[in-house]
Formats: sequence, C-alpha cells, structure tokens
Amino acid sequence: MHIAVIGAGMIGAASARHLSLAGHQVTLVGPAEPGDAATHDGPFASHYDEGRITRQMDPWPFWSRASRASIARYRDLEAQTGVRFFSEVGALMAGPEGSGQMQRLAGVRARDDVPAELLQDAELAERFPYFSFHPGTIGFHEASHAGHVNPRAMVRAQLAACAAQGVTLVRDWVTDLSEGEGVTLTLSGGAQVRADRALIATGGFSRSLTGEALDFTVYARTATMFEVSESQAEALAAMPSLIVLLPTGEDPYLLPPIRYPDGKVYLKMGGDTVDVPLETPEALTAWFRSGGNPEVGAQIEALLRGRMPGLEILSTLNLPCVTTFTPDNIPHFKALSDKVFTAFAACGRGAKNSDELGRLGGLLASGEALPDWAFEAAVVA
Ligand SMILES: Cc1cc2nc3c(=O)[nH]c(=O)nc-3n(C[C@H](O)[C@H](O)[C@H](O)COP(=O)(O)OP(=O)(O)OC[C@H]3O[C@@H](n4cnc5c(N)ncnc54)[C@H](O)[C@@H]3O)c2cc1C
Repeated sequence: MHIAVIGAGMIGAASARHLSLAGHQVTLVGPAEPGDAATHDGPFASHYDEGRITRQMDPWPFWSRASRASIARYRDLEAQTGVRFFSEVGALMAGPEGSGQMQRLAGVRARDDVPAELLQDAELAERFPYFSFHPGTIGFHEASHAGHVNPRAMVRAQLAACAAQGVTLVRDWVTDLSEGEGVTLTLSGGAQVRADRALIATGGFSRSLTGEALDFTVYARTATMFEVSESQAEALAAMPSLIVLLPTGEDPYLLPPIRYPDGKVYLKMGGDTVDVPLETPEALTAWFRSGGNPEVGAQIEALLRGRMPGLEILSTLNLPCVTTFTPDNIPHFKALSDKVFTAFAACGRGAKNSDELGRLGGLLASGEALPDWAFEAAVVA
C-alpha cells in the first residue's frame, strides 16, 4: 500500500519509519525547520529545541506505556542511524506526599513495574543538594531509561532511518487533501502527491486539514532558557530532569544543562499557569514568530530561583511553542474516512514517546488493529 504521511515532525517521521519497516511504500511530506521564522509562511513545529524530558513513569497509564515502548527502542535507533539523541541522566518527579498525583504515580510504578526509587525530604536533599523542596515532598527517581532527548536530533534520526529504508521525503506542506479512488495531497507550490491513504501527523497545525471533525485545543506555551557558565554546568553534570506535581494541578518542568547550537549551555524551564488557546492559523503563526510571553517567562524565572536558590543565571531567553490537547488527554488516533487517518495531539508529552505514537499511527493508517491500551484514557485510581 502507498501511504502518505503528512507532517515530518516527531510523530510523522516515526510513523513513516514504522510503515516502511512494515513493507509499505511511504511518502512523507513536511517542511524542514524554517531558517527565518519571520518570513516562513508555512506551518511550524513543537520540536524546534534541544531538550525534552523523557521518563517511563506518568500518572496516565497510556503515556507510561507509550513512553516505555519508545524508550526501549532509543538505543537501537541511535545505533542504526549514528544520530545520538538520548541523554540518560535520569528523571525525578516530585510532589507533596499523599497528593492524588503522587498516589497515581505510585500506582503506575507498581502496575508497570517501573524501576523508580522513592525518596523523601532528607534523602531528596542529600541526593539533589541543588534543589530546594517544601517539607513533606516525596520524589520518584528514575535513574535509568530516563533523562532527556534532543527532539531535533530524534527527528533527524527518524529521517535518516526513513531515507535508508526508501521513504520518499517531500519538503513542502499540504494545503489541501481530497479523496477519490485514493487520496490527493496538494502542496503549497501547487504540485500534487497521490497515494492510497493518508495519515495526518501535523501537530498543532492539524486544523487546516481536519477542519472541525475532531475536538482539540492548541495552547501557547513559553519555555524559558537560563544560560549558565561552563563551571556551573559541570557542577550540575549529575542533575536529572525534574517535574514537580503541584497541588494546584500545575506541573512545572526543568531540564538540566544542555548545550545549544549557539554554543552556550542552558537550563530550560516551562510551566505556563494560564492556558491561552490559539484558534486560527494566523494566531499560531504570529505566536511562533513572537518571542514567547515575557510575563510567563518572569513567573518561570521566579519558580526556578525558588527551586534552585544557588543557581547563577547569566542570561534568559523565552521560546514560543505550542501543545495540543484532546478532551481525553490521549492523542487522536482516528479514522476520518476509510482512507484518511490521524495521529496528533500529544497533550504536551509527545516527544519522549513519539516513536511509539508514530508506530500506533502507522498501524491505524495501514488498517491494523491498535492495542486496547491505545484508547485507554482513564487514570489509575
Ligand atoms: C515548550 C514545550 C516543552 C515540551 N516538553 C516536552 C517534554 O519535556 N517531553 C515530552 O515528551 N514532550 C514535550 N513537549 C511536547 C512535544 O514536543 C510534542 O508533543 C511533540 O513535538 C509533538 O510531535 P508532533 O509530531 O505531533 O508535532 P511536531 O513535532 O510539531 O510535528 C508536526 C509537523 O507537522 C508539520 N506540518 C504541520 N502542518 C503541515 C501541513 N499542512 N503539511 C505538511 N506538514 C505539516 C510541521 O511542520 C511539523 O514538522 C513539549 C512541548 C512544548 C511546546
């Protein structure tokens, strides 16, 4: 079968790889990262960055399963392509003892047998002296199979594997998708691609292809980068990725020092307290061309200074990004017809597990059954 995958991002590139592994003819269509956001008039992506947290545990079993499946394949993909993207520095999820979120995490840890050490106040302080936590905080520490992935490099690895497996990559974007005997994709330059079926994996820009067929919301997100010195970075070399599950339901996250393409080393933190929906393509484009929200950046900086009081910050930088949520908090693996399928809306969590999300999308598009757990939206009680 000839399957066109629309969107050469984290999920789409993974889908194309898995579909070609399964023996299908695959055409993958999507633009590269724009060199200049101000003049790029096509879609943007949520993976234009060097660090995304990866961890096996998640309060939602769907996400825990998808992450574990993906993480188990990281090293093979790296070895196959020669592209390194996984830094196994560990991950810590912390929150108030007895809170619903921490209890759910404990449930997932037990159910899925995830090796994560439970640490409490003094143990946390001893193991991670650079973090300051409120008394009564507990943390699950995953020392292995966790840390961070480089999302740009992960996409590069998927595309390298795709190329080696004969996938055709078309660097353009789809402006129209129509169905007849098969599907016809019209590209921005006017050219057309014909295939038997199509899989839409276009992240936050999916509405232009799905219309109102599916319910989802795209939110603006600001991540703030904190430049640190080389010596500070060395001192924090053992720092894990951190997520704090606050009683308010917010879950600010923090990545350890990572070197960026400008040669500098940054810690990155995110955790918008207000969800601002982006409802039109124009609003999405304007957001990606912006420098993020400075008010959110200031809130994040205050959070970081509280969490790491000893950190010396040399400079800060805000980055705009988007996350796409479904009402069920699991992605849209849907059939829009017998020829058009979707795999998008990764609910702010889809980098680490994109390889498995892509595999599931590929199964759907090729007519294979998805496992029951792919539709399991419930949380552990
Ligand atoms: C600030 C921030 C921090 C995050 N942190 C984490 C984290 O720590 N851990 C984690 O696991 N996840 C994290 N995420 C989420 C993760 O980055 C996303 O879930 C992931 O990138 C989603 O992958 P995707 O393939 O759906 O979308 P994308 O990676 O955005 O890819 C979609 C692709 O589709 C293309 N496209 C769009 N429209 C068209 C079209 N019409 N035709 C052709 N191509 C098109 C785009 O160009 C893009 O390349 C974070 C997200 C943000 C914003």
